[in-house]
Amino acid sequence: MHPDRLFPADPGTRAIARRLYNTISALPIISPHGHTDPRWFADNTPFSDPVSLLLTPDHYITRMLYSQGLSLEKLGVPGIVSGAPALDPRLIWRKFAAHYHLFRGTPTRLWLDWVLSAVFDTEAPLTPANADRTYDRIAERLAQDAFRPRALFDRFGIEVLATTESPLDDLAHHAAIRSSGWQGRIITAYRPDPVVDPETPGFASNLARLAELTGEDTASWRGYLAAHRKRRAFFARMGATSTDHGHPTARTADLSDRETESLFTRIVRAAPDGSVSSADAEAFRAQMLTEMARMSLDDGLVLQIHPGSWRNHNISLYERFGPNVGADIPMATEYVGALRPLLNRFGNERSLTIIVFTLDESTYSRELAPLAGHYPALKLGPAWWFHDSPEGLMRFREQTTETAGFYNTVGFNDDTRAFFSIPARHDVARRVDCAFLSRLVAEHRLPEDEALEVARDLAYTLPKRAYKL
Ligand SMILES: [Zn+2]
Repeated sequence: MHPDRLFPADPGTRAIARRLYNTISALPIISPHGHTDPRWFADNTPFSDPVSLLLTPDHYITRMLYSQGLSLEKLGVPGIVSGAPALDPRLIWRKFAAHYHLFRGTPTRLWLDWVLSAVFDTEAPLTPANADRTYDRIAERLAQDAFRPRALFDRFGIEVLATTESPLDDLAHHAAIRSSGWQGRIITAYRPDPVVDPETPGFASNLARLAELTGEDTASWRGYLAAHRKRRAFFARMGATSTDHGHPTARTADLSDRETESLFTRIVRAAPDGSVSSADAEAFRAQMLTEMARMSLDDGLVLQIHPGSWRNHNISLYERFGPNVGADIPMATEYVGALRPLLNRFGNERSLTIIVFTLDESTYSRELAPLAGHYPALKLGPAWWFHDSPEGLMRFREQTTETAGFYNTVGFNDDTRAFFSIPARHDVARRVDCAFLSRLVAEHRLPEDEALEVARDLAYTLPKRAYKL
């Protein structure tokens, strides 16, 4: 891959970007938010084959192939009822190679080329002609000790990696990692959507399970809050420094105790037969963000809000394959009014950190940068999901920096399930930040020594500070 990739084409600016990048390219990776499987690092067993490692779990890949008429069954994606199809992974890999051109100009292409060339030292791009060779090469490497999860974690230079778990998770894999004597720092994050969102399938039984785990009466408002506090404390003991909330909107609320209690009572009554009204569900999610912020003031967990994804947009695909197969679509999201109840209650607290993300880029300069450039508690999460691409990362800096500065942002999140792509994703973010900074230097808006400091802060210092790592 070209050493100057993603740098400006103009030779003068490019030279500045290169100088900035060279000072930060080897910094350790801080990955404070993501969705890798802690089991990999607990068991440290070899990854099985190139397809189930690189292709089937990657929704960026499956969505593109699906959009071009390939069926998920034929790509080896396990069905809910049918399970994993009995297909030769080599044949799936060949099919993938025959469609690799679909990823031209996408970040997936950049990440995958990097994984093939830098991790597996094989040919990139993937082509029908090299499909068998690359498959064999990757399979051969995966059998080696150097390609087991823990060895790769060290080789990738990861200083800390956060996973995301439900309050109903026993965190057994995290416990196993901690008692194994291995030094890699894998931490969890508290993602309570299954017991906060009344529209989650199985919400009533989730509450019952939460009661079992905590010994609290989760049918009462007080007991429910106490159960959260206990699980948050347990997660914090297992390394968590943050919570994460994936709501459809950014709406928050600051209801009175009496209103909240009666809302909760209605929800608990309606939950078993799934008859919670969508207005009550939305109001409850909104109120719970404020409740979570209140708890964060006590236990110090950083609160992340990831709103605005229309999950499982394609119903027939959802019924056959479940979530996370590439059928989630961004929605327009409003923040200024939605966050006001939470910010009026807790936005002035300097000991609280709320990190807000968006899938709606139109809010960067109009809503989010002005909010984060004012409220001490609020920070801007990096370009997320559909937007953590070269163009998306650049748009983020272009549209937020003048109002929020660099220091109301929190560095990069890879937010990925694809462990092998983590270094590539951080590298893309570092290159784009250096490209942005190089332009400020070339236009005499920022001296190069200060740009060097910012580049380092964006890559390393800010995520550590914001996430208390
Ligand atoms: Zn995430």
